[in-house]
Amino acid sequence: MNSRRTFAEGHTAPTGWNPLTLAVLASAWIAALPNWPLWHALLVLPETASLRGSLFVTGFGLMIAAMLLALLALFAWRITIKPVIALLLLAAAFGEHFMGSYGVVIDTTMMVNVLQTDPREVRDLLSWRLLASVALLAGVPLLLLWRAPIARGRWWPQAGRNVVALLAALLVLAALVLALFADLSTTMRNHRSMRYLINPVNSLYALVDLAAQSSAKPAGPPLPIGLDAHIAPRAAGVLPPLLLLVIGETARADHFSLNGYARPTNPELTAQDLLSFRDVMSCGTNTASSLPCMFSHLGKSGYEARDRDHENLLDLVQRAGMAVLWIDNQAGCKGLCDRVPHVDACAGDDCMDDTMLQGIDARVDALPAAARARGVLLVLHQMGSHGPAYFKRSPPQRKPFVPECKTSVLQQCDRAALINGYDNSIVTTDHVLAQAIAWLKRRQSNYDTTLLYVSDHGESLGEHSLYLHGLPYGLAPIEQRHVPMLLWPATGRNASCVRAQQNTALSHDNLFHTSLGVLGIAASEYIPKLDALASCRAP
Ligand SMILES: [Zn+2]
Repeated sequence: MNSRRTFAEGHTAPTGWNPLTLAVLASAWIAALPNWPLWHALLVLPETASLRGSLFVTGFGLMIAAMLLALLALFAWRITIKPVIALLLLAAAFGEHFMGSYGVVIDTTMMVNVLQTDPREVRDLLSWRLLASVALLAGVPLLLLWRAPIARGRWWPQAGRNVVALLAALLVLAALVLALFADLSTTMRNHRSMRYLINPVNSLYALVDLAAQSSAKPAGPPLPIGLDAHIAPRAAGVLPPLLLLVIGETARADHFSLNGYARPTNPELTAQDLLSFRDVMSCGTNTASSLPCMFSHLGKSGYEARDRDHENLLDLVQRAGMAVLWIDNQAGCKGLCDRVPHVDACAGDDCMDDTMLQGIDARVDALPAAARARGVLLVLHQMGSHGPAYFKRSPPQRKPFVPECKTSVLQQCDRAALINGYDNSIVTTDHVLAQAIAWLKRRQSNYDTTLLYVSDHGESLGEHSLYLHGLPYGLAPIEQRHVPMLLWPATGRNASCVRAQQNTALSHDNLFHTSLGVLGIAASEYIPKLDALASCRAP
């Protein structure tokens, strides 16, 4: 009995760190260091130049530390404290890298993007800068954490301490919010992106929000659309339609010479009979949000407010009896092409987009003949100008603009070199689209051919110190939202009417309806006023 008590007493003596002490240290570290993109963004504001501003920034730092401590107090147990701190440190280090390197912020759609990223994209994003961030901001404290022994103790005194720490942290947080309310509310209202910079709270919030969204949505297959879809009667002698829909990636409208850009980025398309719609806005600022929205009949507002997923343009066209094929040279179709024939054109990695045109005749001819006779919808999903490794998006023979930036750490590049690499990717897209038109011309004996090209979103190339894309739509600069959209041929229909659409304000909302119009498909989802060409079609 006696010896047992001695044994127990010997081990209840605290011979290591209390989990709460580790929680306090980790909170202070994360609030101070991996949050430097937030501190940097706050300190360059004119509002923070005064002494009052410095006090506000300091108070804001303490608020984040208190928030993290409140969270960690829940996990301040011998078994859980180390893994939870490790997770926060890693999330914070990765967050720091992407916010600090690219000026992006982390919100729910950015998290969707991260979770849907494929290995090809990941490799482009890996860099020494990332390694350094993770090693310094997470590696060093993790090493110290790993070596720190944790005191053994009874659970109930620890529970008491944790509750006290939780309440104290919440009290400090509330006191700071009250004390700083005036500055806090104006800063957050004037600079709404700040809250997406609070690291790693932004990542955790996005994950929780995402989980809540997916559990709120009823499971099961998407709701069918186009149940009454059918091919509208065609005049005798009119060939069945072949619509080649090219979905661009990260292309900016203002970097197309077709839209007035000073550099010759459209050397081949300039010679074509095509129309460039100059005022087109994207649905989202990243692929994961734009792509499903572009193919939806609901439009941006309806798509974002939906409580069920619906089928899309591809399903409807297939249901109307036409042949559909999705050819991909990117991270896949985000579920859009699940119910129609689809193929990944790139066997290896980093294929140029013209890979999608190789063997395309055989691919089209393999689609059901009866469906092909009614019409064909082909989608090419480009790699386009996908960053940050723009220099990988053009082959050596198509680099008119040199020198190119050769790193993924964009702000280390000379801005002119960065834009050179980007513009070379646009020149490559120009070539691919010209090749696609040449192919369509060869199919004109069998089909009434149309090419419609539109990018999924734009890109920031250092304007306002921003890079890449994916800012929340309301905060995103025009460079991330203004996208190129091209139609070929522009003549052969009602040419002057089509040309008059050049400056009409359009958006991704028009893609679904314009495509149905081109294909001559009638369905209750079709809205003529959203068909960019409806007014030009003879009744
Ligand atoms: Zn994209």
